[in-house]
Amino acid sequence: MTDKDLPALSIADLQSLLRRREVSAREVIDALRARIEAVDQDIGAYLSLDMEAAAQEAEKSNVDLPLGGVPLAIKDIINVMGQPCTCASKILQSYRATYDATVIRRLRAAGAIPFGKTNLDEFAMGSSTENSSMKLTRNPWDLSRVPGGSSGGSAAAVAADAAIGALGSDTGGSIRQPAALSGVVGFKPTYGRVSRFGLVAFASSLDQIGPLTKTVNDTALIMNAIAGHDPQDSSSLNEPVPDYAARLGEDLRGVRLGLPKEYLIEGIDPQVKTAIDATMKQMNSLGAEIVEVSLPTTEYAIAVYYIVATAEASTNLARFDGVRYGYRTENPKDILDLYGRTRGEGFGQEVKRRIILGTYVLSSGYYDAYYLRAQKVRELIRQDFARAFEKVDALVSPTSPVPAFKLGERVGDPLQMYLADIFTIAANLAGICGISVPCGFADMDGQRLPIGLQLLGKPLDEARILRIAYAYEQSTDWHKTRPPIASVPRKA
Ligand code: GLN
Repeated sequence: MTDKDLPALSIADLQSLLRRREVSAREVIDALRARIEAVDQDIGAYLSLDMEAAAQEAEKSNVDLPLGGVPLAIKDIINVMGQPCTCASKILQSYRATYDATVIRRLRAAGAIPFGKTNLDEFAMGSSTENSSMKLTRNPWDLSRVPGGSSGGSAAAVAADAAIGALGSDTGGSIRQPAALSGVVGFKPTYGRVSRFGLVAFASSLDQIGPLTKTVNDTALIMNAIAGHDPQDSSSLNEPVPDYAARLGEDLRGVRLGLPKEYLIEGIDPQVKTAIDATMKQMNSLGAEIVEVSLPTTEYAIAVYYIVATAEASTNLARFDGVRYGYRTENPKDILDLYGRTRGEGFGQEVKRRIILGTYVLSSGYYDAYYLRAQKVRELIRQDFARAFEKVDALVSPTSPVPAFKLGERVGDPLQMYLADIFTIAANLAGICGISVPCGFADMDGQRLPIGLQLLGKPLDEARILRIAYAYEQSTDWHKTRPPIASVPRKA
């Protein structure tokens, strides 16, 4: 046994204990179970847990594998065989996955133990996790606030030390924004870097799976396991995968960071701005050069996203018809009644709003005016980034214009909710990679709320982005500060 607070450890620290046989994988699962029992009633991060199976897997786990014996939480939109996969939707409430997503297969091959499924906005549509049809998830730093979304359950679990690390998915910011609001690291890889096979599709040209962790090093360790080509995902890239953890630790001398002048918009919280200014000074003192750049087309990113993403969602979600799987309405009188009532009863309000919007922008007569035009502007956004990356190694901005907002504050106002992703959405449209790392705290009503720094990198440049994020993280104490719900200071 050990007197260490095991669930508070990073993946790297936990692994060194496991490898030195100072703790067993079984003890880790037991400690994690106790921790979840202690805090998850308040947080509400998990939709389902399978601790018995996890304990059995732990008994036979090989702790010498890269992630040997490390339990990981999985957003409930990624298929884990035998476990529920609800997408936080009534329409999949009783569905159990019949296969492992490629990322899960790879995590298992690396020795990790997927033990539980985390809450999200229904089908990953949202920025606060309040669109879940299952339960509310609260921010561990202030239980009256949202954890961000849509991967809010994964972010809150990691922040509250109710998970060692987690997977999320990011279509317009759903890994990075909850990471920022909950004070953890969140990474969206380049489109195609990580297989989407077994991720329930929201918007197929934008979706990516990625890690949420306590440290940048942990993100690199998970990336080492999940990145790479998959013949079962035709959009996955057939490019070699570097060792992401190997070159962390190089300094920032000679690194050029671009600060997009369009990103210091009105409406950005003054405390967020102060934190970003201080971060830029810090980067500078670490040897980085800060350069102003311009991304003129990104002001259209939100508009373009809500055309492209809803169009793709309207076709992807057509499969939930009450015939093949999931919820089916009672006593339909004919096939149209079956479809109509199943979908009417099964989908929540935001999902219906998006299906209707997406169907509209794809309909003949409006296709050219909306969908086709949005695709053209999307290409201009991609070119903006490509031009900027000719001059700089990475782009910097806040991850979110505001710290965590209050539960209920934005639910009645979809536009306000959509604006929460103003800094994250363009990266998905351009297919580039991006990370959020803790970079300070705001003081709101006497509570400390985390602030996130976003670093964006060109396609397949994740190793460099991780290196820059790591150098910054290691020069600060932000990632060691833990929310009030946790009791012991985290070491990293
Ligand atoms: N918040 C954005 C949306 O509601 C992005 C969601 C995501 O990345 N899955 O679509």
